Amino acid sequence: MLNNLEQNLQYRRSVMRVMLMLVMVGGSTFSAINFYRGLWPLAILELIFAFFAFFLWRKVLQISHFQRWVSAFLLPFFTTMVYAMYVPNTSVSIFVWILTIPLVSYLMMGRKQGFWISLFFIASGVSVYLYRFIEGDSVINIADTLNIIISASLMMSLAHVYEVNREKNEDRLLELASTDTLTGLANRMKLRENFTLYSEYAKRHKSSLAVVIFDLDYFKKINDQYGHHVGDATLCYIANFIKDRVRKTDLLARFGGEEFVLLIVGSKEKDCYKQVDSLRQQLKDTPFIYDEVTLAMTVSAGIATYGNDGLSLDDLLLKADQRLYLAKDNGRNFVVDSIKESEIKNLTTNDI
Ligand code: GH3
Ligand code: MG
Ligand code: MG
Repeated sequence: MLNNLEQNLQYRRSVMRVMLMLVMVGGSTFSAINFYRGLWPLAILELIFAFFAFFLWRKVLQISHFQRWVSAFLLPFFTTMVYAMYVPNTSVSIFVWILTIPLVSYLMMGRKQGFWISLFFIASGVSVYLYRFIEGDSVINIADTLNIIISASLMMSLAHVYEVNREKNEDRLLELASTDTLTGLANRMKLRENFTLYSEYAKRHKSSLAVVIFDLDYFKKINDQYGHHVGDATLCYIANFIKDRVRKTDLLARFGGEEFVLLIVGSKEKDCYKQVDSLRQQLKDTPFIYDEVTLAMTVSAGIATYGNDGLSLDDLLLKADQRLYLAKDNGRNFVVDSIKESEIKNLTTNDI
């Protein structure tokens, strides 16, 4: 799943491609008309834009710094549009282009930039109209000016409301797509997304990153004895219990039924072990009370570290899972990292 920014860009790239196609066709056609009419500077500008649009159209789906290219295209494009309105001899119908300014700005640049760019170029377009066509003080002049201002403001308001709602819905959808519905924790998708960011950081800064899998001990018994709803409440309790005791920069995700994954950023392996073992101990000492029923619970955990145990999330989860199973075999309510793993394996070899 793409992150918020990337998704925005994907959508904008498609809109931009359609727009560039129209500018290629429109720019070259108007250029020919204006050459014929002798409006040389405008015709040359329009031809340059048609070529610029062709160049961008071929690259728009892949180019990096997309937003900068959009600005590099739209600002001179709107300036040319206003210049075309200013040139004597251009038809009065050119002013209908003012209505496209808010739509294009909001669609391509988003709410904030769209607002300022629309405001600036609509005001410029209206000023040029007043400069060119308003003579005397007839009521018709006032009506014409109001027509332009009101219709442009209406377009701008619609574009603004649309963009605000689109952004809200997009944020909401992204949040839903990355959240576990029962516990409100991050889900697997969010875990993967964050691991990518954290591992990039760990690689660049040579810092530590650990992947921990927690699995509740004998959780099935809670469901069997008290019902699924108590099991659900227990899962929420555990989720909050761990979340409240880890750093804000760490990430806790619900990985499956009663399994949680914690990404610990910037702690050495020994410190991670201490932190996770302390969580295990605290949970053991803090029973969950639900409807006057006291539920004593314990948890087992396996820890894998970035670099030593692998570089990908899948490799690290596999290693942490193997250690979790060692913890379960060792009687549960236990935490295993690489050091504990060696100790357990040495003990087993010595026993043989
Ligand atoms: P172990 O100590 O070996 O981990 O034993 P366990 O009983 O915890 O492990 P097991 O994997 O056998 O059982 C996990 C149980 O978790 C099975 C399933 O009923 C329960 N479970 C999974 N998802 C949910 C859920 O969303 N809500 C509830 N209430 N129970 C769930
Ligand atoms: Mg399990
Ligand atoms: Mg379990």
